Amino acid sequence: MSATACPVFIGGEWRRSSTLPTTPVFNPSTGEVIADCPVGNASLVDEAVQAAAAAFPAWRDTPPVERARVFFRYRQLLEQNFDRICASISREHGKTLVEARGSLFRGIENVEFACGIPSLLMGDTLENVARGVDCETSLQPLGVCAGITPFNFPAMVPMWMFPTALACGNTFVLKPSEKVPLSAVLVAELLEQAGLPKGVLNIVHGGHECVDALLAHPEVKAVSFVGSTPIARYIYETGTKHGKRVQSNGGAKNYIVVMPDADVPKTVEALSTAAFGCAGERCMAGSTAITVGAAADRLLPTLVAAARAIKVGPTDRLTPQPDMGPVITAQHRERVAGLVATGEKEGAKVICDGRGVKVPEAPKGFYLGATIVDQVQHGTTLAREEVFGPVLNVMRMDDLDHAIELANKSAYGNGAAIFTNSGKAAREFKHRVKAGMIGINVGVPATMAMFPFTGWNESFFGDLHIQGREGVQFYTQQKVVSTRWFGEGVGDVWKK
Ligand code: NAD
Repeated sequence: MSATACPVFIGGEWRRSSTLPTTPVFNPSTGEVIADCPVGNASLVDEAVQAAAAAFPAWRDTPPVERARVFFRYRQLLEQNFDRICASISREHGKTLVEARGSLFRGIENVEFACGIPSLLMGDTLENVARGVDCETSLQPLGVCAGITPFNFPAMVPMWMFPTALACGNTFVLKPSEKVPLSAVLVAELLEQAGLPKGVLNIVHGGHECVDALLAHPEVKAVSFVGSTPIARYIYETGTKHGKRVQSNGGAKNYIVVMPDADVPKTVEALSTAAFGCAGERCMAGSTAITVGAAADRLLPTLVAAARAIKVGPTDRLTPQPDMGPVITAQHRERVAGLVATGEKEGAKVICDGRGVKVPEAPKGFYLGATIVDQVQHGTTLAREEVFGPVLNVMRMDDLDHAIELANKSAYGNGAAIFTNSGKAAREFKHRVKAGMIGINVGVPATMAMFPFTGWNESFFGDLHIQGREGVQFYTQQKVVSTRWFGEGVGDVWKK
């Protein structure tokens, strides 16, 4: 067993397996292996689910105010350990510290949301639905819920799920991405310190076999998934086939329409953050700019200069911090570079090429520089595929109608944004574009914890989205109680 073996967390016990096979966890900044992640199997999953099922009755009956108090303490511990968690996110994922901090804030906002659970769980009542009959609704937890998360937000995406699920009274089994299991372990340790009872949150690690066992386990009542579209579809189909409630978030390709009247410096700043932030490994990355009319000529020289100025480097040290870190693995870097090469073969023009970027202080890291590909045509590989790297496509259109039409041909539908000074153009866009999260002069309109994360089309499979009131609805089932009491009236009873 390696000293850096990543533990599983079952029934309140942290365990390092000596028998399970492992998969390496890399520091993408240096290319070094920093931990071994166990690859769990169906029996490991069964243990975790049984522990969660055993913890459910007592946790369900814990008053919501007491459950909320655990999250108030958790909020404080997250703040006290903020730098340590961000360092872990940067080390295993490659985000810059600024990006890691931003993502952890977003995670913490979900904990703050969970602190409000007593109000969020309140039901409705109506007196006298019929003479002498009253009706009330209550929101009750489902039981054991499972969460399966991707590599690109090691702490935030798990925190989209377990705080709300647990605050609602469910117990939970989390399976983080095997590429970034360490930060999930860290945030779970803090929840344990905050006083969460044993077995309420459990963590298993692994891949396909582990996930299949969760999807088929009769004790698992609901599954939250975030990852790529083919797997999201598989999770939705398999989970629902086994009778589970499923919310399954997939990949994306988000369009940013730039009108000829857009403010150039502000648009360039927003576009480069949207396209190159987190090295493009974001489901809300603005990966395609659709320039309208003269916008391309006004925008591109400044945009290319800004992209060339982005300093790429290792994120695993405090100073100096780069503007952009590495991508997740060497294979992923090859895939992204390969897609750019395919784009060139299909007729697009690379006007800023990050493929040859050199990082002498970390020569084995998985780096790509910011890349801009102009004149990408509808239907080509680059236009269709989610690239998930620091690559911005530029597509040119003559007017807003055609720009919206083009954006609406996408198979995905997470986000879409417009940059303009025209209220009329913005209104047309927000009304007609087929995506769930819309930005008006906002490049990454990812929603905060109190709003649902509303992917459309192949970016989401299910009915109730993650976060906000929809998140509470997903993790609860309603009971409606109709009450009637017989007798003549209480006055007589008191007299007797
Ligand atoms: P991925 O689909 O490869 O993996 C996600 C999870 O599924 C991991 O936990 C992984 O272990 C598991 N998994 C992988 N292959 C599996 C299989 N064959 N059977 C069962 N489980 C399997 O995704 P990723 O590469 O980790 O993350 C990047 C993707 O996530 C991108 O497509 C990105 O757009 C998407 N994403 C979407 C959102 C959203 O809210 N829509 C948010 C973040 C990331």
